[in-house]
Amino acid sequence: MINGSVFSRGLALSNQELKYPYSDHPAAGTTREVADGVRWLTMPMGGSLTHINLYLLEDSDGWFVVDTGLPLKEVTDLWDQICADELGGKPVKGVICTHMHPDHIGNANYLTDKFRCPLYMTQAEYYQACAFSNRAGSNHQSWQGEQFYLRAGMPGDYLEQLRKMWEASSKGGFSMPSMPNGYQRLQHGDTLRIGPNIWKIVVGAGHSPEHACLHCEELGIMLSGDQILPIITSNVSVHPTEPDANPMKFWMESHDKFMSTPDDTFILPAHNLPFYGVRERLRELISHHEDRMLAIEEFCANQPANARELLPVLFARKLDPRQMMMALGEAIAHTHLLVQRNRLQRTLDNNGVYQFVSIDPDLARRAHPDSHDRPADGPILV
Ligand SMILES: [Zn+2]
Repeated sequence: MINGSVFSRGLALSNQELKYPYSDHPAAGTTREVADGVRWLTMPMGGSLTHINLYLLEDSDGWFVVDTGLPLKEVTDLWDQICADELGGKPVKGVICTHMHPDHIGNANYLTDKFRCPLYMTQAEYYQACAFSNRAGSNHQSWQGEQFYLRAGMPGDYLEQLRKMWEASSKGGFSMPSMPNGYQRLQHGDTLRIGPNIWKIVVGAGHSPEHACLHCEELGIMLSGDQILPIITSNVSVHPTEPDANPMKFWMESHDKFMSTPDDTFILPAHNLPFYGVRERLRELISHHEDRMLAIEEFCANQPANARELLPVLFARKLDPRQMMMALGEAIAHTHLLVQRNRLQRTLDNNGVYQFVSIDPDLARRAHPDSHDRPADGPILV
């Protein structure tokens, strides 16, 4: 994720089919056993979500940590408390990070140094984290960033607004931390034996490049990171570092892939509460993004529109510069999948702005402009 920010978009869905066995989160500095050898804890984070869920997997001679919280002293202190009080005297023997966003990798370096234990990540996540940790904020000072936002229809002073926002946000722990100097690679299909349990790595993409989930069939549990969340939708964005990326394609393909998860699987996500109903949730997400894309097609049927002009289709609220960055990234992600599906055409106009126009002759038959999901309030900082 560009500049180390992680956002998700608030979304009011019915979720009637989802079941939440727990009504609250474990208190800070404590853990809650959710299955034999599986413990759940939360760490605080700024923004509207207030927390991230982290997990501990017990081996005979130590623990594996799954995700680590933001790089803030408050979180590091809580880790010290957890390690002293909750691990039964056993060390951490491995740190597994589902993906490269700062709320997940923030204390990877701290914990792997403290216990001299390995970091486990997929290759794309590890190297992207290393790359961004060394060039934080540089997209706000490059011609690539300038061109990206100009092409999205943003005013010339927007980069300056982003620069100021970046300076303020790094104080809240949303900057990329330094990374451990080495790692052990996880790949789709790999298995980790931890205690009596076999955890299979299931890789998804779209929110981040090679996101690892951990699935234990015997326990009927999946640690889903940000790949599957029950209430908010994970941010799926195009950024200046890869302006023609098509992450929504990977996101939708991942939903299809995860649809084979047994429906009685207990999903332990990184945000919101653990839940049952994985297939129902995936169906909701697929339907939601398809609905957003259809609304964009309808909007672009009457007149060409740039990415900035598409924002009211997706978001109801006035957005601050930071929310605007994430909202634009999401809008562009939806358009790129529509272009790939040959439903939108993108052209660069004389002002250097990309204009999108609907080109599917079948749109009139598919359109239902009066019955779309209502626009989300805005992107939520997680
Ligand atoms: Zn994330």
